[in-house]
Amino acid sequence: MKRLKLNTQRIRSCLKESHLRSTRKRECILEALLTFDRPVSAEELRDRADLPKSDLVTVYRTIEAFLGIGIVQGIPLEDGKTIYELTDPGDHHHHFVCRKCHKTERLDLCLAGELEKKARKLGFSDISHVMEVYGSCEDCN
Ligand SMILES: [Zn+2]
Ligand SMILES: [Zn+2]
Repeated sequence: MKRLKLNTQRIRSCLKESHLRSTRKRECILEALLTFDRPVSAEELRDRADLPKSDLVTVYRTIEAFLGIGIVQGIPLEDGKTIYELTDPGDHHHHFVCRKCHKTERLDLCLAGELEKKARKLGFSDISHVMEVYGSCEDCN
């Protein structure tokens, strides 16, 4: 799997500038995210960060905070769950997602510009979009 090189320096400085309170748990969760080379579930993150089961709420809150400042992107799965990956602040990606092993390939391409323009013409504001492509990867075939 190709992995686009993450600018961890940028991620860290973005975090610093965000005025998010730096807590030990938050730091653990970021460190855990950095050890994965694929998107992960909140449960996987909690386990990698070696946090107790009851800390899943903390993990979700931290992910929400990271999503808010744009250093994490959520990837919705077909079953309604979401997996998460670190991303360079401000970047926007779509993915090919293996529905069996959750391996993903990032797409450096977004086709939604025209659609968003159309939505704006229809009077929509605060527009966003979701587009992921699901299938079975080479290893899972
Ligand atoms: Zn797979
Ligand atoms: Zn897009």
